[in-house]
Amino acid sequence: MIFARRIDAEMTRLKLEDENKRITEKLFQYSITDSLTELYNRRYFDKFSKETLNQIKRLDCNATLSFIDIDDFKQLNDKYGHEKGDKVLQYLSTILVKNARKGIEHVFRIGGEEFAIISRNSPVEDSIAYLSRVNKELKDFPFSEDISITLSIGIDSYKTEDKNSDDAYKRADDKMYKAKNCGKNCIIK
Ligand code: GH3
Ligand code: MG
Ligand code: MG
Repeated sequence: MIFARRIDAEMTRLKLEDENKRITEKLFQYSITDSLTELYNRRYFDKFSKETLNQIKRLDCNATLSFIDIDDFKQLNDKYGHEKGDKVLQYLSTILVKNARKGIEHVFRIGGEEFAIISRNSPVEDSIAYLSRVNKELKDFPFSEDISITLSIGIDSYKTEDKNSDDAYKRADDKMYKAKNCGKNCIIK
């Protein structure tokens, strides 16, 4: 009888432990996910970017950071409504993930209509090829024929001499602004 009770108690303990693990994992996933697009969020970007810089310093491999800003997104919201704007963000997110090479491109929503891609073990040319595939597919936004979505993109590499992962972020961000100044809808490397 006592033995049976002990087994019962142990079974309950194991079940609770399991449940606890599941909840902890779920909470972690929530904490790193953007709710609208289900991409990784800004918080996880900061962590992943730091880890990427550490990795390239340790292993002497390469990694690129692409900073993406949707062109004239405010205008799109004003003209078609916020809900359509949300659909555009979700559509772009799907395409970014769909075209990502497994284990290479990691996709983040940094803020409103801004996204970042960290491509590990990828030279700049291969990251540009990825972004070109994305641009090509973006032309077919399925929810409205007359909506055209274009992106301004800055791309740069993590460098072993960088002190901080923000250095690559700043370079890519600067280049994205150059893309805006060059008339938008382009990639500056
Ligand atoms: P630019 O080409 O210079 O980047 O112009 P822009 O209009 O894209 O940039 P701006 O920063 O003026 O506007 C960004 C807009 O993005 C304004 C804001 O209302 C919209 N936005 C931010 N977050 C969301 C969101 O979650 N959903 C929707 N629908 N719109 C959003
Ligand atoms: Mg912006
Ligand atoms: Mg914009």
